[in-house]
Amino acid sequence: MIDDAAGVEFSHQVEPNVEESPNMGASRFFKMLNSAQNPLWHRCEYSELSETSSPDNKIPLDYYRAKKLVSGLGLTSQKINCCVNGCMLYYKADKEMTECKFCKEPHYKKRVGKKGKKKIPHKTMHYLPLIPRLQRL
Ligand SMILES: [Zn+2]
Repeated sequence: MIDDAAGVEFSHQVEPNVEESPNMGASRFFKMLNSAQNPLWHRCEYSELSETSSPDNKIPLDYYRAKKLVSGLGLTSQKINCCVNGCMLYYKADKEMTECKFCKEPHYKKRVGKKGKKKIPHKTMHYLPLIPRLQRL
């Protein structure tokens, strides 16, 4: 009736419900939800995304414990300080030197205002002793 009085024809057509496909982020999320629902195999209580280890397993809880366990094999590395320019290693008899005997660069970093703290070398390397590894073979 209002349309007739105004003399204007309004269209009241409503677009039919058109299902849009979800965007890429939503698609990944729905795919992940499906993976969380799908069992690994028929009648399995674990899904594709769940933890499959049993609760009474012996897997180390963190990196520190795993490293400690592996160190029992005797295949540890040795940390050796070296000159910042690569001239020499501070190893065996030279371990306590305060500067490089070739380029005179200091062994340790200067730490202003931090007396009594641990000395930090400019450069270190990790040495993997060969003999224990060969003995393991
Ligand atoms: Zn040097």
